[in-house]
Amino acid sequence: MTDRRLVQPAASPDGDPWLLTPGPLTTSSTVKRAMLHDYGSRDIDFIEVNARIRNDLVGIVNGNHNHVCVPLQGSGTFIVEAMLTTFIPRQGKVLLLINGAYGRRMADICLAHQRTFETQQTPEDVPVDPDRLDRTLAKDPGISHVGVVHCETTTGILNPISTISQITARHGRALLIDAMSTFGALPLDAVDIRFDAVVASSNKCLEGSPGMGFCIARRDALVGTRDNAGSVVLDLHKQWRSMEDNGQWRFTPPTHTVLALAQALTEFHAEGGVQGRGERYRRNCKMLVNGMREMGFQTLLPDNLQAPVIITFLVPADPHFQFESFYDALRQRGYVIYPGKLTSADSFRIGCIGRITTDEIRGVLQAVREALATLNVNNCGPSP
Ligand SMILES: *Cc1c(COP(=O)(O)O)cnc(C)c1O
Repeated sequence: MTDRRLVQPAASPDGDPWLLTPGPLTTSSTVKRAMLHDYGSRDIDFIEVNARIRNDLVGIVNGNHNHVCVPLQGSGTFIVEAMLTTFIPRQGKVLLLINGAYGRRMADICLAHQRTFETQQTPEDVPVDPDRLDRTLAKDPGISHVGVVHCETTTGILNPISTISQITARHGRALLIDAMSTFGALPLDAVDIRFDAVVASSNKCLEGSPGMGFCIARRDALVGTRDNAGSVVLDLHKQWRSMEDNGQWRFTPPTHTVLALAQALTEFHAEGGVQGRGERYRRNCKMLVNGMREMGFQTLLPDNLQAPVIITFLVPADPHFQFESFYDALRQRGYVIYPGKLTSADSFRIGCIGRITTDEIRGVLQAVREALATLNVNNCGPSP
């Protein structure tokens, strides 16, 4: 049998491999083309684009006049760090609900900024525990904030954000959410979910280019954060004031990334917003999980805990399976996947977000079949 794909690997319309990862992700040609312009930071057109994006992002969480959007340069972690240092006062205390690497990163950030924190951990394949949260908040009135990750991209597990927000609100504490890998694809409605701040980035489910994050905050809460931040560049209160005063970023704005995000948002709405985007990702996820299971692979998570974002597969017990060779064989065929990030088991991940459809999922499944044949892997089940 001739292997056509080795001669002609799959490629995006712009000739790049498909990125089936947690980010950076495949973007549309039109999003990339939107970046072919140079704008000055004080340019009236650029200021107008910023204002439009900020309003639009508030609208996506169904926010109202009491919500504001504060953008910030950098990758996703920059805006997570900015949220924690800006919203948690020095005399505050945050309870971090942790079931993966991004939750642990929040703890690293609190440590670096000398914020008092406590952690409540569950294993990486178990959602954070609302009952334990309830008991802890009842016992400790000193906890001012609760921090949680909506989808832990470490595994792709979905945390019960609505229940967490109800409990946190009932105890009168403030909720800080890392919604990096769900924003725009899974509903997060400010009417149902009471938060002080939610952060996400331009790249993931919004399918813009990487390079900026944003925080959707309750205005009342943000007003009270003045002088909290233990950082010059990560001070969201100051960034907000600057945006409100003259519509400008405090430091050199990522102009191309902003233009790409504006175009990405246009495409997001054309697809039907959160509903439409979420449906495409759910179709991708379902086809991927079914196809891999047919080959014998096992997912880490049961379907009811799985967000349609990234899927963790257990590494087959077959000694012929080596992740590096598997990765290379897929990469040669035009598909980029991701190593696992589990502390407990050998795994790898395949993402289903970004500008990809079931055509690409069908393609990667075929590439996996070919890679397994090349590597001589016969049994894809995990070790018992
Ligand atoms: C991607 C992601 C981040 C940010 O990671 P960066 O590498 O800094 O962009 C933070 N939290 C979650 C849940 C993520 O998925």
